[in-house]
Amino acid sequence: MKIKLHWQVLIAMAAGTIFALSLGEKALFVAPLGTLFLRLLKMIIVPLIIFSITSGVAGLGDSRTLGRMGAKTFGYYFLTSILAILIGLAMTNLIKPGAGLNLSGNFQAFDPGTLNKPKSMFEILLRMIPTNPVKAMANGDMLAIIFWSIAFGFAITRLEGRPQKFLNDFFQFGFSAMMTLTRGIIRLLPIGVFGLITKAVATAGFELFKAVGLYMITITAGLSLHFFIVLPLVFWLFTRINPLKHARAMMPAFLTAFSTSSSGATLPVTMDCIENSAGVSNKVTSFVLPLGATINMDGTALYECAGVLFIAQALGADMGFAQQLTIVLTAFLASVGTAAVPSAGLVMIFIVLDAVGLGDNAGAALIVGTMLAVDRPLDMFRTMVNVTSDSIGAVVVAKSEGETELYPE
Ligand code: ASP
Repeated sequence: MKIKLHWQVLIAMAAGTIFALSLGEKALFVAPLGTLFLRLLKMIIVPLIIFSITSGVAGLGDSRTLGRMGAKTFGYYFLTSILAILIGLAMTNLIKPGAGLNLSGNFQAFDPGTLNKPKSMFEILLRMIPTNPVKAMANGDMLAIIFWSIAFGFAITRLEGRPQKFLNDFFQFGFSAMMTLTRGIIRLLPIGVFGLITKAVATAGFELFKAVGLYMITITAGLSLHFFIVLPLVFWLFTRINPLKHARAMMPAFLTAFSTSSSGATLPVTMDCIENSAGVSNKVTSFVLPLGATINMDGTALYECAGVLFIAQALGADMGFAQQLTIVLTAFLASVGTAAVPSAGLVMIFIVLDAVGLGDNAGAALIVGTMLAVDRPLDMFRTMVNVTSDSIGAVVVAKSEGETELYPE
């Protein structure tokens, strides 16, 4: 009997947890399995994005279709990110995790100077246009790669005859080859997850978790609300399809996001689930998902907002209405600019802190250091939320484009 992939992965997760808890740091010898698997996933991201977006945009045919799909995609992404941020805002105001936080003790353990502060939001957006696309590809600069691929795909739609057919075929076939490679790598998911989870559990600093327990509870509660209630509701409202069908189709991607903490690394798996299990067309999948993995991060958006309010509460800095509004807007921008890699969202918090005048505050930097130390489990969950929102976006757009063959099984 063949065990379904997601069950294999769940078993691997449980095995990794037990293995790490019983052997402690000695269990780390299996960690390279996770590293190898991550490298395999990362190996395919850049070519996958180039082939998928270029073939997707070229396949849309004309600028009207591109404009329509683009508007729907961005509209959906904006809507769900703002909903997520409002949840973060409400939760933090309700639970007040930062009030009464003791700033001495644990906080001295971290050197905030080691944190790499992000560039300004403006610079991040400016770098979306690569002066040298090859360099952008070599650096894995996702926004720049996406911009270039959309532009190039669009140029293909303007060609005619043989040149157009040749380039269309080239990118379409390249995309098929990348997806075939993806499917091969996904077979190794249980082994990779075993290594990744073992490492995450064996290196977790459980003592610190207690010190900032309320903060972790606040974020987890907010993410849960968004993941279990808001997103399924949005899905149902737009598609009238049972959200459980979607959850079933997405299971391997959920588990990959959870284990890798990177929506970028999860992208190949998400695309496979959405195209092959959810039955969304190639046209929509290859346009909406790579874009979503890079700019649509609901979990991260929620986190930026809740995280900054938590820091403000801990410092006793009063945040009035105007400042909370600033936080909401900058949290959205920060989530757009966050790279789809582990803990990137936490570092982007400085952008939001800057906007409310706490960017250079030494106490704030100390707290961010501590947040970094306990970030892994939160990052796992928010990455899963990020990926879920992208995938729902793909189905919502597909449905609105009149696709009917969804969830064939
Ligand atoms: N790890 C997240 C992701 O890749 C980003 C973040 O740190 O919030 O989606």
